[in-house]
Amino acid sequence: STSPVTVTITGAGGQIGYALLFRIASGQLLGADVPVRVRLLEIPAGRSAAEGTALELQDGAFPLLHSVDVTEDANAAFDGANVALLVGARPRGAGMERADLLEANGAIFGPQGAAINAGAADDIRVLVVGNPANTNALIASAHAPDVPAERFTAMTRLDHNRAVAQLAAKLQVPVTSIERVIVWGNHSASQYPDLSHATVDGRPATELVDERWLADEYIPRVAKRGAEIIQVRGSSSAASAASAAIDHVYDWVNGTGERWTSAAIVSDGSYGVPTGLISSFPVRAVDGEWRIVEGLTIDDFSRQRIDASVAELVEERDAVRALGLL
Ligand code: NDP
Repeated sequence: STSPVTVTITGAGGQIGYALLFRIASGQLLGADVPVRVRLLEIPAGRSAAEGTALELQDGAFPLLHSVDVTEDANAAFDGANVALLVGARPRGAGMERADLLEANGAIFGPQGAAINAGAADDIRVLVVGNPANTNALIASAHAPDVPAERFTAMTRLDHNRAVAQLAAKLQVPVTSIERVIVWGNHSASQYPDLSHATVDGRPATELVDERWLADEYIPRVAKRGAEIIQVRGSSSAASAASAAIDHVYDWVNGTGERWTSAAIVSDGSYGVPTGLISSFPVRAVDGEWRIVEGLTIDDFSRQRIDASVAELVEERDAVRALGLL
C-alpha cells in the first residue's frame, strides 16, 4: 500500500468544498488505491462550517481517508502538501471595483503562494478554483519562485465539461461520442468554447451543427451557464464545479492518454498567447505534466475569440502588476 497523499483545500467550509471533500475521501481525486490526508484551510468566518464537514467526513468511515485537519494557518495547511485546491476567494461585492476585487484576492493568493513555496512537497500541484481563477493562479505562482510555474493551474474544466455536455445534448449523443472540444482563454464570460476541431463519433462536429447555432446559442450558453445555474437553482453551481476539479486533478496525475481536455496552464507562447499568462488551452496530461496540444489550425472565427479572451487576461495581469501583486 502507498503512503497517504496530502491534499489541502482552501475555503473548505464553502459549498464547493462540501461537495469536493466527499469525492476526495472516497478516492476519486487520485485513485481508488491512494490514501489521502486532507487539510482544510479556512478563515475565521468559515471555520465552524469546515469543522462540521470534518465531523461528517469522520462519519463516512472512508477506508482511504487517513486524517482530516482544520486550520486557519496557511503555513500549517500547505506544509508537505502534494495537491492544493485553492477554492476560497473573495467574491465581488456590491459596488466593488475590479481593482478592489483583484486587490482583495491578491491578499489571499499572494500569502498562499508564499506558504506553498515555503513548505509544500516537491511534487506540489496547485489548482485554483476561486475567481478570478486565472489571475489568482498567476499571483500565487509569482509568490512561489521555487515552484515550477507549470505546477500552478486554474480551472476551466467545468467550462470544458459544459461545452461537451451541451454539444451532446444538441446532437442527442452520449458525451463519450464527443472528443477534442477546446475551451480557450479566461474562466470568464470571454472564454471561447471551440468546436472547430471537435469530433462526434469521429465525424467533424462542424458538419453536424450550423454556424449560427454555434455563434448565437452554443458559445453564449456555455459561457453564461454559471448564471443560468444561479437563476434556476437559486445559488451558484457547486457540485459540478467540485466534479470538474476532481476531473482536472485526476487527469493531471493519472494521465489522459490521447484524449484532449482543457485546463488553464502557464503559456509557453503557443497559439500567440503571451508567455507566462495562465490561459486555457487544449491539453493532454502525460507523465504527470500538462502538455499543450500543438499544431492546430486556428481559423479567423476562432482567432478573434481567442484573442479577445487573452486580451482580458493581459488586462487582469497588468492590473495586478500595477497593484504590486506580482
Ligand atoms: P463556493 O464554494 O461556492 O465558491 C468558492 C469559489 O469558487 C468562488 O470564488 C467562486 O467564484 C469559485 N468558482 C469557480 N468556478 C465556479 C463555478 N463554476 N461555480 C461556482 N463557483 C465557482 O463559495 P462559498 O462562499 O460557499 O465558500 C467560500 C469559502 O471560502 C467560505 O467558506 C469562506 O470562508 C472561504 N474563504 C477562504 C479564504 C481563505 O482560505 N483564505 C478566503 C476567502 C474565503 P464566484 O464567486 O465568481 O462564483
